[in-house]
Amino acid sequence: MRDGIQHDIRLSVLSAAVFALAAAALLWLQNHGMTRIYTGADPNNWWYLGVSYLAVLILQDTAFYFTHRLFHHRALYALFHRGHHRSRRPTPWTSFAFDPPEALVQSLFLVGVVTLLPLHVITLLAVLSTMTIWAIVNHLDLDELPRRFPHHWLGRWVIGPAHHALHHHRPSVHFGLYFTFWDRVCSTEDTSYSTGLNASPVII
Ligand SMILES: [Zn+2]
Ligand SMILES: [Zn+2]
Repeated sequence: MRDGIQHDIRLSVLSAAVFALAAAALLWLQNHGMTRIYTGADPNNWWYLGVSYLAVLILQDTAFYFTHRLFHHRALYALFHRGHHRSRRPTPWTSFAFDPPEALVQSLFLVGVVTLLPLHVITLLAVLSTMTIWAIVNHLDLDELPRRFPHHWLGRWVIGPAHHALHHHRPSVHFGLYFTFWDRVCSTEDTSYSTGLNASPVII
């Protein structure tokens, strides 16, 4: 466990360096007028803050699901994703423990999105905060959580620690990030997950 945490911290530091480079690239693009980030407040457009926030989460969830499945392919796993699975029992330190190539793909998504979709800077900060908090919550150890922890805030559609812990336990299921949609559509949701949710809040 201790070794796993040390390994996760080392990888998280490397990922943070990749994310910092992506942030620098983003600032450079912003300074050269090549992003669609805006700051002004248009009172007729408040609704767009919420809509664009949800749109980015849905796009990110979709990109994450398919790239994540790809990274589990034998040819890519060692280079892109093995680091994240070193800890079979995830801890919050696992949240951003990505091999640098995987961190690069994830940050390129965010750089791509701000060059294509008009986003208020507040929306961008909200997405980054959601991403960070969600990743930490999804890697909380089930043993440490109270039995009454609400694993299914929004029914079966939103991913929480019980859902993602199963991916670390059995990497052939549960590839989603925020929503269970793609796992359900592509039949990669563990069949015991939904029945487990009905029976008990903690399922493994
Ligand atoms: Zn994970
Ligand atoms: Zn994985």
